Amino acid sequence: MSAPDDARERVREAGGDELVERLLHLDAARGERSRPPAPIAAPDRGAHAEYDVVLAGGGLSLLLAPLLADRGLRVAVFDRARVGFAHREWNAGARELTALVETGLFTRAEIDGLIVARYAQGICRWHGGGSYPVTGVLDHAFDAGALLAAARARAEQRGVAIFDGHALLGEAAGPDAIALSFHVVDGAPRVVTARLLVDARGASSPYATADLICPTVGGVVSGLEEGPGDDQIQRDTGDILATTEGIEDGVQHIWEAFPGRSGEVAVYLFYYARSSDVPAGSLLDLYGRFFARLPRYKRGAARLVRPTFGYIPGWSRLGPAPSSPGPRIALVGDAAARHSPLTFCGFGATARSLRHTANAIAEALSGGASIAGGVVSDDAIHAGTGALARMMATPSRDPRRKGELNDLLDAAFHTLHAMGNDAYASLLRDEMAPADFLRFLYSTSTLRPRVYRDVWGSLSPGEVGRWGAGIARELWRAR
Ligand SMILES: Cc1cc2nc3c(=O)[nH]c(=O)nc-3n(C[C@H](O)[C@H](O)[C@H](O)COP(=O)(O)OP(=O)(O)OC[C@H]3O[C@@H](n4cnc5c(N)ncnc54)[C@H](O)[C@@H]3O)c2cc1C
Repeated sequence: MSAPDDARERVREAGGDELVERLLHLDAARGERSRPPAPIAAPDRGAHAEYDVVLAGGGLSLLLAPLLADRGLRVAVFDRARVGFAHREWNAGARELTALVETGLFTRAEIDGLIVARYAQGICRWHGGGSYPVTGVLDHAFDAGALLAAARARAEQRGVAIFDGHALLGEAAGPDAIALSFHVVDGAPRVVTARLLVDARGASSPYATADLICPTVGGVVSGLEEGPGDDQIQRDTGDILATTEGIEDGVQHIWEAFPGRSGEVAVYLFYYARSSDVPAGSLLDLYGRFFARLPRYKRGAARLVRPTFGYIPGWSRLGPAPSSPGPRIALVGDAAARHSPLTFCGFGATARSLRHTANAIAEALSGGASIAGGVVSDDAIHAGTGALARMMATPSRDPRRKGELNDLLDAAFHTLHAMGNDAYASLLRDEMAPADFLRFLYSTSTLRPRVYRDVWGSLSPGEVGRWGAGIARELWRAR
């Protein structure tokens, strides 16, 4: 059996047919990105819309549904699979959990009840380099399945209509409403009208045009050995980023490991890439590597208990933003890609932006504001970190330079660690001030002067210009 076939069977064994279907769909969808939407007639002027908001995609962004219903809107959620069914495990910091409480959807006690583990520290560790501990970053493991099940229940209590097994195929916007056509699993196709489509289809959205992508596979694993070694698990420590080798075949693979419930650890393998360089089938290929190389990363008799996987889009801020194709479609979550292009922490960024996004949508529908500028909040620091992510997405294929990215990351994290925990943590939490970011860049370049060559080797002069202009703009704003 080939490595991808073997990987598919191992995912099926642990996650069942439903998860294998999701995995294959995500992989196939990468090959269909240019397929034109199904033709459908646009509603006439003055047409009645059945819903104010249709949310296409009931993953993490499902949390918006009850918030929009609370703002007096008629809301429906459609998902091609099951609404509120997470095939994820999420790590976040205290700020994100507080943001969830501040939405008013959950009490502090309810959110605390969804925390499955807390860590004293996190580690970033580079092959051939050092280990750099940090505190106050991604230090809570969160029960994603229970959060989304609770969000679905809250939505239903507020009268939100929920449709499982409905895949959005295409849409046509009229002056006052948008028509949406759905393929219905086990049913006849269906057309629905709304005043606004909120596109929450994640990386599968045709409008998810971010220039970077992070293919990620792994899941909850049991049987890993506990102990003090780098290749063992310490229950009070999360591996935020770790490498076990250099660049191979033009890719720098990175591991993460977060202990969860007793005896379980969420382990992921991912890489940064340009979106245009990642073909269909990449998740299954990456799973093949995950199973083959896991023993090199962590010791023990590993067994996959719950698979988690996905493509997470990232926007470098060096080119056009993923944006709505018109005034009746708003992008949220991964489709909008306003989270960090460096950490790809879409759960944290969505949690922090939830209230802002719900208010922006409600205001737009009350006629008070346009959605043209987007409905998801963005953090100033991304104007700086995007270019770093782009550099990591395009490593050299020259075998003599296979250690280059580890060396660069080691210099960068050595600098961050030397700047102190507040500065180090603030970068990973998307909170670093632009002036501190410049200090970080300067200090890294004194430690590794070759970084100038790395920059000019990865970015075009125009991109370097846009990077500088973005940082200058944020410095000006932060005065
Ligand atoms: C393995 C993994 C681990 C992660 N861990 C973390 C973490 O620890 N911390 C963190 O901050 N972030 C993490 N993330 C990122 C986070 O999960 C995403 O950013 C977040 O889920 C994006 O939310 P979303 O609503 O945009 O999309 P998703 O949650 O991906 O939901 C998209 C939904 O759209 C549905 N859909 C797709 N196409 C259609 C269609 N045509 N019609 C209808 N429905 C459709 C899908 O079935 C799915 O339910 C992780 C991501 C992955 C892949």
